[in-house]
Amino acid sequence: MTIDLTPIFNNEDLSLPFNYEFSMSSYVPEGEDNPFSPIKAKGKVFNRTGIVYLSALSEFTYSARCDRCASDIERQMAVPSEHILLIGNEDEAEESDVEYDDRRLFIPSYQLNLDDLLAEDIWLSMPVTFLCSEDCKGICPNCGTNLNDGNCSCKKAVDPRLEALAKLLNDD
Ligand SMILES: [Zn+2]
Ligand SMILES: [Zn+2]
Repeated sequence: MTIDLTPIFNNEDLSLPFNYEFSMSSYVPEGEDNPFSPIKAKGKVFNRTGIVYLSALSEFTYSARCDRCASDIERQMAVPSEHILLIGNEDEAEESDVEYDDRRLFIPSYQLNLDDLLAEDIWLSMPVTFLCSEDCKGICPNCGTNLNDGNCSCKKAVDPRLEALAKLLNDD
């Protein structure tokens, strides 16, 4: 969705709410499945004392594989986007009357592609690893059994230092 920000920049106290859905399919690397459900984006762009803010929440389900046991998982996620919008580029930042703030976001024109902006925030907030649960036991590297379903019959590898210690203790 493209928003024309011209009226917002020109009118203090003006607020433009939005509530819509978009697909992440064009923001996923080519040839890969889209792991995102449709994104439900809700928020507003508003002008407060001459500064334009964007505040949004993107809600969706993400399908992934557990990094330890490879079981399928679905995560409900809600990614907030909080920005101060400025027209231009970073080089012009010093002339800007908005003080440095890490929410500052420079956009090239008054035509804001909201999908692009929210999709980038979504990607930046994705965790590097997904686990089905914090204490996922993973799969046995030997036989491939999912250890969350029960133990396999493989012998546990014993840490050689512990083995030496056990010997010492047993020698008494
Ligand atoms: Zn797991
Ligand atoms: Zn095993």
